[in-house]
Amino acid sequence: MYAPSLGAFNTFGSIRQLTTIQREKGGVVSGQDGAIEVTPPAGRGCGADVDANFKLGLSEPYLRAGNEMQDMRGRVNTRGARVGHCNICDEFGPLTEDHVPPKGTLLVKQVELMRIVELLGAGPIRKNRNRRYMPGGVHFRTLCAKCNNDLLGRRYDKELIRFSNAVSETLKSSLALPTTVQIPANPGRLVRAVVGHLLAIGVARRPHSPIWQVASRYFLDPAEPIPDEIDVYVWAYPHRTQVQLRLASLQPDFFRTKPILFSCLKYFPVGFMVTWSIDDRSRVPLPNLRDYMIHTGDHEVSIPIQLRPLVKERWPEAPGSEAAVFHTEDDGFGAIPSGQKN
Ligand SMILES: [Zn+2]
Repeated sequence: MYAPSLGAFNTFGSIRQLTTIQREKGGVVSGQDGAIEVTPPAGRGCGADVDANFKLGLSEPYLRAGNEMQDMRGRVNTRGARVGHCNICDEFGPLTEDHVPPKGTLLVKQVELMRIVELLGAGPIRKNRNRRYMPGGVHFRTLCAKCNNDLLGRRYDKELIRFSNAVSETLKSSLALPTTVQIPANPGRLVRAVVGHLLAIGVARRPHSPIWQVASRYFLDPAEPIPDEIDVYVWAYPHRTQVQLRLASLQPDFFRTKPILFSCLKYFPVGFMVTWSIDDRSRVPLPNLRDYMIHTGDHEVSIPIQLRPLVKERWPEAPGSEAAVFHTEDDGFGAIPSGQKN
């Protein structure tokens, strides 16, 4: 969950809207009641949970909750049913809300951010117009209490918070930022936190496709080493726009090489890219958390975070003219903090 001090967020719809609209118009947002709204792909219904609710004969509030996934205007939101199948363990029951970044992540003040951006030479902070107030930030009501609170909250988010805050503190406190900083981390817990939040994105995602089966098995079993299919890359992300992208395909050089199937989480101050069964790990020239893990990775290491040159702000979800990204329409979300003079 977001800390209360983080305030409200303006939420965009799909990443595709975020990238095209932000470029063309400077930002269009929609949403109410904490939900992001995106247009569902043709043929996509309310999802399996609604059917399940009907079959189980649940009372009307549950049916209404299920139908929130697609409202009168055909838009999908992130809340989903109050009861349904957990996006991770698939148990049927009450669902809880997962927030990214988790509660306890430091947020920098605007003046601090501008200084960091200036120090790193990351370019001007963009103006965004047409904002709409949206309390609550980006969250998905898709996880059972055990996965969300016991595993993510009590075990893995602590590490994600510690790592994120260590990067924040470094960026805020340094008078002259070095090219690379070393950040302490427990790579096994960090990776499980990232994978857990990715699994939470999107309502009624079942049955799991093979990659999500691998991901959920790995998340649920702390004794399992990172599967061969999963690589997690990390970089400094000193920007305010947040990105939660469940699955997309990156085509770095327009069909001359294999596409890279990836997921992405970005928020100040870090970005994480998960690649799925990548053919050559050197294709992503960033620290790969796999390389810092012995067995399950449940130990302390230092992760080098490169500050210069910075990874481009919109990479990998909108890589620019040198590459293409294919998004499924409702698999990605972006958000920018509101109430900021940026
Ligand atoms: Zn669960």
